[in-house]
Amino acid sequence: MKRDDIVTELTDDPQIWDFIIIGGGATGLGTAVEAASRGYRTLLLEQHDFAKGTSSRSTKLVHGGVRYLRQGNVSLVLEALRERGLLRRNAPHLVKNQSFIVPNYDWWEGPFYGIGLKIYDKLAGDLGLGPSEHLSKEETLEHIPTLEPDDLDGGIIYHDAQFDDSRLAVNLLQTLFDEGGIGVNYMEVTGLLKANKLVSGVKVEDREGTHRFELQARAVINATGAFTDTIRQMDNPDAPGIIRPSQGVHIVLDGSFQPGESAIMVPKTDDGRVLFAVPWHNRIIVGTTDTPIDEPSLEPRARQEEIDFLLTHAARYLTKDPEPDDVLSVFAGIRPLVARGGNDDTASISRDHTLLIDPSGLVTIAGGKWTTYRKMAEDTIDEAAVVAGLDERESVTENLRLHGWLKNTEAADPFEGYGSDALALKKIASGHPDGNPKLHPHLPYTAAEVIWAVRSEMARTVEDVLARRTRSLLLDARASIEIAEPVARLMADELERDQRWIEQQVKAYTELANGYFLG
Ligand SMILES: Cc1cc2nc3c(=O)[nH]c(=O)nc-3n(C[C@H](O)[C@H](O)[C@H](O)COP(=O)(O)OP(=O)(O)OC[C@H]3O[C@@H](n4cnc5c(N)ncnc54)[C@H](O)[C@@H]3O)c2cc1C
Repeated sequence: MKRDDIVTELTDDPQIWDFIIIGGGATGLGTAVEAASRGYRTLLLEQHDFAKGTSSRSTKLVHGGVRYLRQGNVSLVLEALRERGLLRRNAPHLVKNQSFIVPNYDWWEGPFYGIGLKIYDKLAGDLGLGPSEHLSKEETLEHIPTLEPDDLDGGIIYHDAQFDDSRLAVNLLQTLFDEGGIGVNYMEVTGLLKANKLVSGVKVEDREGTHRFELQARAVINATGAFTDTIRQMDNPDAPGIIRPSQGVHIVLDGSFQPGESAIMVPKTDDGRVLFAVPWHNRIIVGTTDTPIDEPSLEPRARQEEIDFLLTHAARYLTKDPEPDDVLSVFAGIRPLVARGGNDDTASISRDHTLLIDPSGLVTIAGGKWTTYRKMAEDTIDEAAVVAGLDERESVTENLRLHGWLKNTEAADPFEGYGSDALALKKIASGHPDGNPKLHPHLPYTAAEVIWAVRSEMARTVEDVLARRTRSLLLDARASIEIAEPVARLMADELERDQRWIEQQVKAYTELANGYFLG
């Protein structure tokens, strides 16, 4: 999967693709896998790195969405629970069971949330991950010893799943290649080609240089998340915007703030939202907020009031109050919410997905969530095949094992999240002259992950490696800056880059990561 070879192939050997998919997040990658696995000639173009947008900034839950149940959106919950089950089956190396505790501080909360969660269990049916149960105060504290005990009445335990979002994105990219498709990062779509008023391809710019060229396709699919309207307006400058971007922020704390394997789920915060505190890679992710914003950006930044909100709520539920200095990382993502009928309240806008076909034939897929990417993709390719005038073919992704599929991974294995690729990483590690030591005492990664990321996962920059191939930026932003230089050196060896490149990379990464911690 060498990017340089792919770019040469795209420019020297032009062909008419069945589908060109714009956007390399969950939606675009899922759609590309859907198309390629049906045997269509498929090309995916991402302007920055895969999962650079929202898809590396989620709460990392594969869930039905208890919240949507409260909103009465049963069909959405049903669909998501089914997809949760399929994803656990098709990517067991990345998607794990996660128990959640709803702590009850008022007498009515136990029966109230207990009934709701029993309905949630029922909806999951055979794909359920375990029944919800009431817990006494003592049992609740056994699960989460640092839960605030004052006035605690008891709790409810229920089950959902958790994953590593950008690692799954990388596995989708690899699955795309396994299925005969192509994906390329740092390739921006700058315009649409038209023939007889119908979209017939895209204009692109290679962001690793300034090279511009054109690519033809039978159908072009816009899967650009928060940037959906930009592409739609390339087609029709007067197209009204459909995305109401809303920002969600998380803070990351050391695992000692909430030891044990269970997560906390707070069904209703002061402003009526759901809040999670979830163990992830020996840290705790606390989130999220929901703040409408004007313009989407690839690097959204948390606002002070969002950080204060998360710190205050974490302090309310945990015995040890986190201070700003305890925040190992803070990250923000943008929900690509689709507005219907002028509704501007982001908490009530549909989290369901929207599929649009413009008169020009441009296909747009937006909204939804990570958990439901496969179903979104299936719906999209069903429609897009008709737009493209291609023969219709059955979807196979319900039973398609994703790249890296491995049933029994060992939690203690340093390369656990790589599934079946772990063997290849071990081989790289065993060839390391110093025994492949950890790059930083506070981070679990070694040179092997860096080398593998460049050779097999199309990592092009230090940020690609530290933010998305490994999760260093989210696990400890300060520590990640300290390893930027050794990572740049390892990458430079692989990519044949010079000292100037190393210096530029370290500078660019340091500037970026400085925005991920407080103070
Ligand atoms: C705070 C937060 C928490 C969430 N938590 C969860 C969760 O726990 N579980 C869950 O299931 N879902 C969750 N979601 C929802 C989920 O993360 C999103 O629905 C999903 O990631 C959206 O993916 P996407 O591919 O549509 O968008 P994105 O991931 O943003 O991808 C769009 C891509 O398009 C690219 N692009 C844009 N313009 C161009 C162009 N001109 N040329 C080429 N490429 C372009 C961008 O660079 C970007 O990479 C959460 C969302 C947020 C905001």
